[in-house]
Amino acid sequence: MMRPYNFSAGPAAMPAEVLQEAAAEMLDWHGSGMSVMEMSHRGKEFMAIRDLAEADLRELLAIPDHFEVLFMQGGGLAENAIVPLNLSRGEAVDFVVTGSWSKKSAAEAQRYCRVHEAASNAPDNHTSLPHPGQWQLNSDAQYVHICGNETINGVEFHELPDLKSLGCEAPLVVDFSSHVASRPVDWSRVGLAFGGAQKNLGPAGLTLVVVRKDLLGRSMSACPSAFDYATVASHQSMYNTPPTYAIYVAGLTFQWLKRQGGVAEMERRNTAKAALLYGFIDASGFYVNKVAKDCRSRMNVPFFLRDETRNEAFLTGAKARGLLQLKGHKSVGGMRASIYNAMPLEGVQALVDYMRDFEQTQA
Ligand SMILES: *Cc1c(COP(=O)(O)O)cnc(C)c1O
Repeated sequence: MMRPYNFSAGPAAMPAEVLQEAAAEMLDWHGSGMSVMEMSHRGKEFMAIRDLAEADLRELLAIPDHFEVLFMQGGGLAENAIVPLNLSRGEAVDFVVTGSWSKKSAAEAQRYCRVHEAASNAPDNHTSLPHPGQWQLNSDAQYVHICGNETINGVEFHELPDLKSLGCEAPLVVDFSSHVASRPVDWSRVGLAFGGAQKNLGPAGLTLVVVRKDLLGRSMSACPSAFDYATVASHQSMYNTPPTYAIYVAGLTFQWLKRQGGVAEMERRNTAKAALLYGFIDASGFYVNKVAKDCRSRMNVPFFLRDETRNEAFLTGAKARGLLQLKGHKSVGGMRASIYNAMPLEGVQALVDYMRDFEQTQA
């Protein structure tokens, strides 16, 4: 079956093979007589699913042994509170504000600790990245928060900052919700990374946290037990019932990623997809992307029709061609094409072909 190309920012398109496998195993997982949804989370069947998912993810992302992998719930928004509850000690933290998501993270953290804005790209409307050498880092900050990829604004860190080289010993916290597994992670620069699964890993409901073990055990007393990283880690993410089905489907996605050639191959494909789309937009006088070239997101490509009165016609025509969910976020307007791992190059080519045709019909 030929499915439409789905450019949703999240929950986002899944690899069709993964959906088919989940469908085939829906009523009876591996002869167990049970759907994964119906299994005890502590039974040997689900434990095997969980353990394989963690092992595959560690392999895919090359996560070192001195990091814990936690399967949590609550999404990126809950982590905006859970991170300060676990790491801030109620003291000072630094935020680098580069768009809607880091702004939201900073506002939530303010309820638990003293938030210091170390840098911001607000003056140029979130279309560039402030250079790390210019960040005003606080010497007593408990951590430094960045959003690795700003899903709404389309700005991405193509290299994580090396805080040590800036004279900063605080751990780096990265919200990698919308680009996890799209590219390798330099863990030597990271203290904690978190992300909801629904952009690039699997269904909504699962939140991934990867945290350096030495950062566990400093939570504030107000931190809910189910959200205390040390508690979650000591129970292998089974302190409370984890989102079992979402973990299972994410595990199928990890297997799919391995069959594709892993994260290095994903990065190669994502680079090619982004180059095709940005290249077309830049060469066109009809469409425009406003983000500085050195920090354009490979995952989320916001773009505008120079004549915005044609937006509705563009979206209607796109849908008729099987190109779904291209409307931009309401805070930015225009269009947005999210081209996560599950989007093949052919999907981006179909979008570019449509954009070219649409421009010609409007001439
Ligand atoms: C989607 C997203 C979130 C929010 O995730 P929820 O699961 O809705 O809480 C946070 N940060 C980034 C960068 C995102 O893209």
